[in-house]
Amino acid sequence: GYADTPLVVKGLRKEYADGFVAVEEIGFTVERGQVVGLLGPNGAGKTTTLRVLMGLTMPTAGEALVFGHRLVPGSPVLSRVGALVEGPGFLPHLTGWENLQAYWRATGRPIEDARFEEALEIAGLGSSVHRRTRKYSHGMRQRLAIAQAMLGLPELLVLDEPTDGLDPPQIAEMRRVLKRYATDGRAVLVSSHLLAEVEQTCTHAVVVNKGRIVASGPVEEIVGESPSVQIEVSDV
Ligand code: ATP
Repeated sequence: GYADTPLVVKGLRKEYADGFVAVEEIGFTVERGQVVGLLGPNGAGKTTTLRVLMGLTMPTAGEALVFGHRLVPGSPVLSRVGALVEGPGFLPHLTGWENLQAYWRATGRPIEDARFEEALEIAGLGSSVHRRTRKYSHGMRQRLAIAQAMLGLPELLVLDEPTDGLDPPQIAEMRRVLKRYATDGRAVLVSSHLLAEVEQTCTHAVVVNKGRIVASGPVEEIVGESPSVQIEVSDV
């Protein structure tokens, strides 16, 4: 079985109600220690793939197994996954700090106090952690959401376009954080439409276009041996 594999995606297909096929024959694996980039232009099917694997939408065919399990609401395996796939919907009248506290309390799971400090350090919010999130910019919300996804040091971290809305220094910091994250046997799956970003952050890449995989493997192979991938991705 796949009980110890963070993610196995097999033969995934998603046809929306209007008949549009957003992903087809998507299959890949995320192993411990890997930072896998799901790379493709807008509309390639990245968000659809991540929503299926988080159990937020049902696939038409195929499956996504997280530590051997399909995620459904209430899955015990959810405690091993941290994700930023949909806006986490912060409570506007609470501060960033209070939002993380409230979020974690709702999980009912134990946590060391130091994790909050570390997560907020990563979010780089400085003294703004004590401001109400109502006053946050898009980038601040994005960083708080990433901190929230990482809070419990999940074994699998899933992030949809995490650098969206971040400025260059924040993007550089995010890169460092994600690279470090997969040490200690953890794993990361991160979507992006930027080849350079995947190249600089990820150990492996899965390149998608129009709902299908066009290349996948160690990032050096994808970048070095597939100039067509580069052209295709940067063109769109
Ligand atoms: P982006 O970076 O823009 O989010 P993406 O690679 O994540 O792109 P998806 O959001 O998965 O792509 O969308 C893939 C395709 O599926 C798009 O053409 C989109 O219009 C379509 N799509 C998404 N959701 C639905 C839906 N609920 N019904 C019909 N089509 C949809």
